[in-house]
Amino acid sequence: MQNNIINIRLLSDWSKCNYKCSYCIVSEQQDKFVSWSEDNFKKIVSNLLLSSYQYNIRLGVQGEFFANKVLVAGGRELSNHNNCYGVNLITNLSLSIKQYRRLFEGYDLSKVGLVASYHPTEIKDLSAWVDTAIFMNDFVDFSIVVVAYPPILDDLELMVDKFHKLGIHVALQAYIGEYEGKVYPREYTDTQKKRLKSMIYSRHDFEFLVNLKKPDMCYAGSRSFFVNTVNGRVLTCGIPGMKDSLEIGNLLNSPDIAFLDAPMKCTSQTCQCDTENINTVVFHQNYKRVAINQHKFEFIGDASEWDMTY
Ligand code: SF4
Ligand code: SF4
Repeated sequence: MQNNIINIRLLSDWSKCNYKCSYCIVSEQQDKFVSWSEDNFKKIVSNLLLSSYQYNIRLGVQGEFFANKVLVAGGRELSNHNNCYGVNLITNLSLSIKQYRRLFEGYDLSKVGLVASYHPTEIKDLSAWVDTAIFMNDFVDFSIVVVAYPPILDDLELMVDKFHKLGIHVALQAYIGEYEGKVYPREYTDTQKKRLKSMIYSRHDFEFLVNLKKPDMCYAGSRSFFVNTVNGRVLTCGIPGMKDSLEIGNLLNSPDIAFLDAPMKCTSQTCQCDTENINTVVFHQNYKRVAINQHKFEFIGDASEWDMTY
């Protein structure tokens, strides 16, 4: 994948979900979130279809993507756009294969990256869920993301191993939050960290998601941007609490983006989003993107990955 493809992380305010994961920030308070801005999403998609640069977009949600037909239609349109290199979608994989087949009708499947989030406490029929994952692995550029929630670490190791044996790519995310009075990921024990290291996809993920590496130089704004569907604002970076993010456009009003010319020094203490920290200079120096799916990349350094200074 070439460096001149712009990474876009779009966050929509769609927050309805059929699951109720205990650690989810929206599941218990769906009504408190602002209402879904369908018209804004449509306008933003229309403006993206007028873009003059190639992009790989992640259509992020705070609920279940496939429960919203307008989001699904937007993903379909973008996948068929010439300037679109890839559309990354996320699902809890709770629908049937038949339903997914129908929802993906009209998509350019060669441009779809799909991530299934694995939520073991909510899955009613694990065997059916795994069958759907096996189907998806052939259908689109697929991966499974698992959250290293402290009480399920034992089961997680077995599951990750099972997915790997099925040839399915797994991305592990550190748990961000509190559990039994401890704040994660800072309070993973050394033993837990060792176990996470054995399951995690890359040193990059480990350093940023578990070790909470302080970011340095970043291409946010020059090779990537964030867009919020509530107001259309295009920001260099969408990490919550990142005060120094610059506004470089508004996709409700215009397709134009005022890209920065060069990387900037990041002023945030951490960058725990795995679809944004791939914009750091350290990532570009050490890894090459090898797929549409934003979780798949390859180490390109000289030393072995875990020996390098990061
Ligand atoms: S599947 Fe995702 S959005 Fe739905 S409740 Fe679980 S964590 Fe929240
Ligand atoms: S390193 Fe992360 S937090 Fe910092 S500017 Fe880049 S994307 Fe934003």
